[in-house]
Amino acid sequence: MNSPADARALQLLNSVFGHAVFRGAQAEIVGHVAGGGDALVLMPTGGGKSLCYQLPALLREGTALVVSPLIALMQDQVAALKQLGVRAAFLNSTLDGREVNACERALRNGDLDLLYVAPERLMMPRMLECLTESRLALFAIDEAHCVSQWGHDFRPEYLQLSVLHERFPAVPRIALTATADPQTREEIVRRLALDDARVFISSFDRPNIRYTIVDKQDARAQLLRFIREEHDGDAGIVYCLSRKKVDETAAWLKSHGVRALPYHAGMDTAARAENQNRFQREDGIVVVATIAFGMGIDKPDVRFVAHLDLPKSIEGYYQETGRAGRDGAPADAWMAYGLGDVVQQRRMIDQSEGSEDYRRVSVAKLDALLGLCETAGCRRVRLLDYFGEASAACGNCDTCLEAPQIWDATEAARKALSAIYRTGQRFGAVHLIDVLRGRTTDRITQWEHQRLNVFGLGADLDEAAWRNVFRQLAALGYVRPDHEAYGALKLTEASRAVLKGEQRVEMRQAVTRKGRAAKKSRAAASDLPAADGGLLERLKAWRTAQAREQGVPAYVIFHDRTLAEIAAVRPGDMDALGGLSGIGAKKLERYGPALLELVRA
Ligand code: ADP
Ligand code: ZN
Repeated sequence: MNSPADARALQLLNSVFGHAVFRGAQAEIVGHVAGGGDALVLMPTGGGKSLCYQLPALLREGTALVVSPLIALMQDQVAALKQLGVRAAFLNSTLDGREVNACERALRNGDLDLLYVAPERLMMPRMLECLTESRLALFAIDEAHCVSQWGHDFRPEYLQLSVLHERFPAVPRIALTATADPQTREEIVRRLALDDARVFISSFDRPNIRYTIVDKQDARAQLLRFIREEHDGDAGIVYCLSRKKVDETAAWLKSHGVRALPYHAGMDTAARAENQNRFQREDGIVVVATIAFGMGIDKPDVRFVAHLDLPKSIEGYYQETGRAGRDGAPADAWMAYGLGDVVQQRRMIDQSEGSEDYRRVSVAKLDALLGLCETAGCRRVRLLDYFGEASAACGNCDTCLEAPQIWDATEAARKALSAIYRTGQRFGAVHLIDVLRGRTTDRITQWEHQRLNVFGLGADLDEAAWRNVFRQLAALGYVRPDHEAYGALKLTEASRAVLKGEQRVEMRQAVTRKGRAAKKSRAAASDLPAADGGLLERLKAWRTAQAREQGVPAYVIFHDRTLAEIAAVRPGDMDALGGLSGIGAKKLERYGPALLELVRA
């Protein structure tokens, strides 16, 4: 691991990319590919996949061809590389004939380190011909799971990429993806003829993401409080299930001073593109979106992902929350979850058109997610375990930071179940709670429920506590919403033992908002001295101006993390500045004087 080639790789990592050390398996992968080997790289989002081909591209002679399915992102990636002084270009349908010619000429002349190409473009006879006349360093196939016909992102053109191996057997290939499951992996190997490739599998943990799942009370107000207290002025994504809720939530946040924009498939294309573009390019935009928003989001400084509705599965949850904190800096995955979510998701499964098999799988997936929501143990351990990875309590999720109290809810569960039974299994939680708490509403008198012996039997618990009980009963499978009967709660087979007193039930105590314990521990966990807030503001304003002038996203100039380091360290000269993460030689030369000026001011 200490060959001259490795030393050269490290030196380029420092001088070009401004990073002090390799992350995880990067060094090994770079060494392997730079040495001419094929590789399949499985790394989570934000793991640092790009470097795995960008560095070999610089280490090997010739041009690296990067196959990427997302045209919109190529431009930003190339812009970011150019900032580093790397000779990069892209070739896709947005270029006109003259630009294409110029690009092909540069490729033939060996004037490019990296060329990003859309897969359909690469397969054109003219392009393949041009490749035979050029010197090729390697092929990088990004988002390699696009070859999988079973995945969501299937791209037929990806199937043809095996041609590369047949036409250019001597050129090493590296395929990269953040999709972890074994079937997809096997399919990538088979379809891209990567049988001899070395497979690098990283842990799928995202240690900088803090997972928090709160009891849903007034979700919007909870969200606003979360944004104001933890993420004022940060970029974030808020996921909702329906288009209507997206529109309403975005408007409501906006009226409360959050720079929120909606995004869903029902908007016209131009408005949608505009909002995505602003999110990608401006600082501190919050996009409220349906899951239609995701693929094609490559913003490294998304500081939080919030869910106002429960996703369908842990896979979905992990993919969506994975869009936070790609830059490695602290980020939050926050979700508000309540009984209504359980009812809603079950209804969607019950009413889906899918086969019996499909429903069975959907129910199992939902149950796994509910298990995550209700666990009193570490959320991360649960998540990673779902993906087949063993781990220890993380110290960076809500349950690790503040262990939830477990209480013996057997009595409460029996009362709740018998309220359901006595009222004929025809009512939802709201009415059942009124019965238990002994409230005389119109509905109660209409049905004469004040005569039942369960009436007022649960006055010892408040409404929130009862909501909690019903939610957990549904999540644990003791009750089931009946969608034919407007979501009335019904007893399940499993509830019988509880009613008979044969089965104990434990539940999580509702977590009330205690002090800011969680927040404090985060500040303590940071390895940086406290940043100078005023300086950070000025640095951000400077970055915004630079980004606008050059027509690139702000993070292409500098990442948040770099600005935060400058504001904390207050470097006094170019040397000190160059030692910070994210400042390579080229950026130091170009922006160093301006930055030092800002620090001095
Ligand atoms: P992926 O493609 O796997 O989602 P990226 O390649 O976009 O991840 O990298 C994620 C972030 O991590 C980027 O902001 C990148 O600058 C940063 N990064 C990658 N490697 C390193 C490293 N060795 N040291 C510090 N930061 C790194
Ligand atoms: Zn944890």
